[in-house]
Amino acid sequence: MTTSTATRPAVSDADGTAPTDFDTVVIGAGFGGLRMLHELRQLGLSVKVLEAGSDVGGTWYWNRYPGARTDTESWAYIMNFSEELKADWVWSERYPGQAEVERYLQHVADRFDMRRDIQFNSRVTAAIYDDATNRWTITTEAGQSFTCTYLVSASGVLSVGIDPPFPGLDSFTGQWFQTSSWPKQPVDFTGKRVAVVGTGATGVQVIPEVAHTAAHVTVFQRTPNYVIPARNHALTDAQRAEVQRDYDKIWEKSRAQVFAFPMNPAEHAMTDLRPDQQQRVLEAGWETGGFRFVFETFNDLLVNEESNQIAAEFIRNKIRTIVKDPATAELLCPNYPLFAKRPPLGHFYYETLNRDNVTLVDVRDNPIREVTPRGLRTGTDEYEFDIIIFAVGFDVGTGALSHIDLRGSGGQTITEKWAAGPRTHLGIGVDGFPNMFMISGPQSAIANIPVIIDNTVDWIGKTITFMRQHGYDRMEPTPEACAQWQEQCNNDLDATILASGEEVGSYFFGANIPGKPRAAVFYFGGAARYMQFCTDVVDSDFKGISFSAFSESTT
Ligand code: NAP
Repeated sequence: MTTSTATRPAVSDADGTAPTDFDTVVIGAGFGGLRMLHELRQLGLSVKVLEAGSDVGGTWYWNRYPGARTDTESWAYIMNFSEELKADWVWSERYPGQAEVERYLQHVADRFDMRRDIQFNSRVTAAIYDDATNRWTITTEAGQSFTCTYLVSASGVLSVGIDPPFPGLDSFTGQWFQTSSWPKQPVDFTGKRVAVVGTGATGVQVIPEVAHTAAHVTVFQRTPNYVIPARNHALTDAQRAEVQRDYDKIWEKSRAQVFAFPMNPAEHAMTDLRPDQQQRVLEAGWETGGFRFVFETFNDLLVNEESNQIAAEFIRNKIRTIVKDPATAELLCPNYPLFAKRPPLGHFYYETLNRDNVTLVDVRDNPIREVTPRGLRTGTDEYEFDIIIFAVGFDVGTGALSHIDLRGSGGQTITEKWAAGPRTHLGIGVDGFPNMFMISGPQSAIANIPVIIDNTVDWIGKTITFMRQHGYDRMEPTPEACAQWQEQCNNDLDATILASGEEVGSYFFGANIPGKPRAAVFYFGGAARYMQFCTDVVDSDFKGISFSAFSESTT
């Protein structure tokens, strides 16, 4: 059997109203959902994409807080599926801002006429598999239902923001905002007393921006981070032409790198060099900025404790040099290994802490207890604010699916399935959840996301093609394959320094949320290795996955 390239029309309701039955329903119209839509169309499948927002963008639709921009260099933050798309888009900066990324995704949707298959303002609340019909029923918040054979979750890895975790929020008489669902209308901070709670990758982006106009910014920090300077800059015309010419080479380079960044492998282990040479290499990495500081300096930073400590002390010394007040500098110095928590990239973050209108408050031993009508109260003090910004993180990895009523075969819910932590096959499938695919699901590789999305979408396309070629209409990974993948995730994590993150509340383990099961939320063995695992499954005619024709599974 060959696959058709013409899109199969969706089945209309009997009364001629809009169709509700599709080959595939995709949840989410961000990077993953758009890329998946394109692939499914190529396979000739009918598709409905359900998107909670009023437009495409996903992460880049919701996280429109001041200062939001990528931490990945723009030339590797692309969709690679179309030569035409690459020919007509080049970014303007090393790290594009939220508005530009949103424009890019809108451009993709328009250029490939994607909107006709996307229904906006449609938050999915339930997805339930029916053993009797081998079909999924998807329900939205508005009570609409859709049925489909294949369910694809493209609902994001960092898409469920944590609500402000303090009592009393309703009593606050000022304004408050959550970075993960920032309003479209600009917020005016001019002359305002502003609190920012949280100093992760989001907090460190928002703080310098707000400090430009606010009367005063108070930064509430619980755990300091290693903030590496991003060193953003505009791309010159020559650089843009070079990027456009080299897109393919850049993509291949990214696919080969451990975090799917287009970076050169570090030539040396820290231990190969004398201390003065080590410092010179670290200094050059610091000047280059971004994750190149980690990946292009030394090849043992994430696996050798001593090397990691030298790099960590280098950053602490930078903090002590940049931040003028010694007490503030010491509060900003982390005391855990570099990369035990995901380090943010800063845009003059430490410099911002020198401003007269910025104060750092350490809440590690004196936590915020409540929101009061006038501001925030710790165990000892009350602080008054006009505006509070909560940048307190996400229910990472499992959050998007755990927050909907997702039930697989026999009515088992995904929260029951993952009661002890996520257990998946390649971060894409789950045993007991037939014909369900996850893009950027838990236990997928932690890496530059567009590259992993592209790989996953390609893998899903190949799996569906295999099914159609062999007359199968039901697939799911075996429990053994899921158990093996879980073991692989744990083993590869234990081989790195990232494993120490559990003690410091890293979301890599779900440790940023009280009560969330502690387990590897990602595959940490490197993007290239992860993609090889995916290829091996395809090449082995899908070892670890059980397929059946529906008639077989019902007899
Ligand atoms: P995060 O890294 O989890 O940071 C949340 C912050 O809130 C932490 O500083 C945390 O402190 C603090 N916090 C949470 N509860 C608190 C409480 N009760 N009291 C005081 N502080 C509290 O979340 P995020 O900054 O949103 O970043 C998450 C991820 O999103 C990033 O690591 C990155 O992968 C992605 N992201 C990417 C970009 C980009 O690429 N440009 C930008 C932003 C975010 P503790 O550390 O003590 O828990």
